[in-house]
Amino acid sequence: MSKPFGPLPPEFAFQTGELIIGGRAATAWVAEHGSPLFVYDPAIVEARIAAFRSAFPTIDLHYAIKANPHAALLQTIAPLVDGLDVASSGELGKALAVKPAGSISFAGPGKRDTELKAAIVARATLNVESEGEATRALAIGDQLGIAPRLAVRVNPDMELKGSGMKMGGRPSPFGVDAERAAGLVKDIVKRGADWRGFHIFAGSQALDSRALIETQSATLALAERLSGEAGHVPAVVNLGGGFGIPYFHGDTPVDVAAIGAALTENVAISSLTKAGTAYAIELGRWLVGESGVYLTRVVDRKQSRGETFLIVDGGLHHQLAASGNFGTVVRRNYPVAVAHQMGDVPDAEDVSVVGCLCTPLDRLADRVLLPAANVGDVIAIFLAGAYGATASPSAFLGHPAPVEVLVQRS
Ligand SMILES: *Cc1c(COP(=O)(O)O)cnc(C)c1O
Repeated sequence: MSKPFGPLPPEFAFQTGELIIGGRAATAWVAEHGSPLFVYDPAIVEARIAAFRSAFPTIDLHYAIKANPHAALLQTIAPLVDGLDVASSGELGKALAVKPAGSISFAGPGKRDTELKAAIVARATLNVESEGEATRALAIGDQLGIAPRLAVRVNPDMELKGSGMKMGGRPSPFGVDAERAAGLVKDIVKRGADWRGFHIFAGSQALDSRALIETQSATLALAERLSGEAGHVPAVVNLGGGFGIPYFHGDTPVDVAAIGAALTENVAISSLTKAGTAYAIELGRWLVGESGVYLTRVVDRKQSRGETFLIVDGGLHHQLAASGNFGTVVRRNYPVAVAHQMGDVPDAEDVSVVGCLCTPLDRLADRVLLPAANVGDVIAIFLAGAYGATASPSAFLGHPAPVEVLVQRS
């Protein structure tokens, strides 16, 4: 019995059965660069950014670079967005290379003193995750004679419904509990911080547009309430993001136009807007996820007790998420295809695509119906642009790192 896989992203065309990525056959990309290979098409990211701009005309757009920090991709995205969000001093360095410090914010638990110092010296904004972190940042600022730019990340008292990764409404290493956030703002303002506002990120991989609208509206209301309690107007309210992409069978895309229309209206009537607050949404996955395809070649084809295995030269060491081992509860199939047999191919067979690692976890597609593929054929696994190469255990088993290439504009 075969299992379904997710919808193929509509951005990719086929020509005479060949998958086309950035105007060129997938098999041609592999012929030039070898396999396994990630190909990223920045035109898809640019279209996403344009869709965001038209839906959210009054909201700044930030790119959360942990989704895909590939240098050439980052260079393409940086001038098209208003800010970059980073989560380590390594990412801070990458961001500073392409964007002014004033548009960079640094979130994440467990920032070391050296990381706090790097951000303070550069004049990037630190989204503080705890009172203790704020105190360390202020002490480092004192030593340096610099008022640190601090935003307070809030652990909200509500949860983002329908999101793949739940944050908020519970104990959390991320952010200061909402009930203590106003107190922390008062305190850091008094102690000389350059307070930049609130950062409220309620969850990731949300596909339910109505839930996203409700969460953004609740997030805005929370920011208004906390500002009132603190007695200070935030320069910026970072409303998080969490827009998902349809990975699995039955998933549908988020309705960005509807979410944008609702937020634009809510922001227009907010007391904070009248007082001068600006807003930002930070996105990773939704901006870059669909732009990437992971291409891997069949090394072996075998039968075992009634199941056909296509064993490929890639695996979970490059694309952990497709194996179901990166933050999903139930293992489901990412969209997958045989790269030179796209479209209507009648002689489909029930196969599992497994990677070359010595672990049963290394299963990139489980019992899917695909056109017959042989040794040397290229398998395409879609939605590899976010949390792919960057979020996989590439040192495991000592295979070479995957090659990553960016489609160049002609
Ligand atoms: C990871 C992260 C993001 C990006 O999330 P996506 O689901 O990829 O859009 C945004 N903000 C913060 C604080 C994050 O940690």
